[in-house]
Amino acid sequence: AKASGRNTHLIFSPAMIETSRRKLNIANNINDGIKENEFSLRYQPKVNSLSEVVGYEALARWDNKKLGNVSPAEFIPVAEQSGKISAITYWLVHQVIQDMQQILDINRKIKVSLNLSAHDLKDTSLVTLVGKLLEKHNINPMNLQFEITESAYLENFELANQFISRIKEMGCSIALDDFGTGYSSLSYLTKIDIDTLKVDKQFIDNICVSERNAIITNIIVDMANALNLEVCVEGVETLEQSDLLAGFGCHTLQGYYFGKPEPLNSVLTALQK
Ligand code: C2E
Ligand code: CA
Ligand code: CA
Ligand code: CA
Repeated sequence: AKASGRNTHLIFSPAMIETSRRKLNIANNINDGIKENEFSLRYQPKVNSLSEVVGYEALARWDNKKLGNVSPAEFIPVAEQSGKISAITYWLVHQVIQDMQQILDINRKIKVSLNLSAHDLKDTSLVTLVGKLLEKHNINPMNLQFEITESAYLENFELANQFISRIKEMGCSIALDDFGTGYSSLSYLTKIDIDTLKVDKQFIDNICVSERNAIITNIIVDMANALNLEVCVEGVETLEQSDLLAGFGCHTLQGYYFGKPEPLNSVLTALQK
């Protein structure tokens, strides 16, 4: 019984200590970072089958004095775990809707999307705020889309459904992000009211080398079309992928092949051409 002895104590390696110190550092600097204007946005284009830009996804960036450039792949999970995501989302919503005014002044048809986290879906005052901001900036809610991951959705199905129906009543649309990556089953697609399926990059990465990936992607696209959902594929990096996906009947494509995330000014310049 005593066999495990001292080894039952948790042992932290220097690398683990360094990782948790960095996470703590990130979490502790988020609020100041927002106040000090260290956060910014990049906009990545989405194109239709004619390669015309039809939308942009807003992606957050953070350049901190001490921490340097922190990728959202790192700070978003930390913000989610430490209860700081709300502060980022409120900043995000203000910034995106403000930027949208300039984008829509050039092209009324552009749809802009932003990413929400699981916690945001429990926050009804967020919906109220979005409504007020859209009104203040005189923006048609149809131009705004929210990207919600499968996992965020499934974390609290009931509340997520309520949140989504309020967003949709307002006239905004919903994309189910990272589709196909979670442990979810297809059955919930009959229970939720989304407009767009975003097929995760993981599938797209291998469609030209793996016939299985190509077949699965093709079937997801067919299913979405049959359900009257829009499909957006993310992570398109080559012409070959783009051609194959267009052949599958994808409505909307996104990825480095069409454009990387760019600051608002570059977006406005590109749209004016
Ligand atoms: P996501 O929503 O799946 O966003 C797509 C990510 O893939 C972005 O990384 C984008 O820059 C990258 N990407 C797009 N096209 C390509 C491509 O062709 N090739 C490759 N290799 N990568 C591509 P990013 O900007 O680093 O964002 C990472 C994740 O962080 C996002 O994944 C999203 O989950 C989260 N995120 C970013 N901004 C926000 C935000 O404002 N709020 C929330 N809640 N999450 C955010
Ligand atoms: Ca997204
Ligand atoms: Ca995604
Ligand atoms: Ca993804």
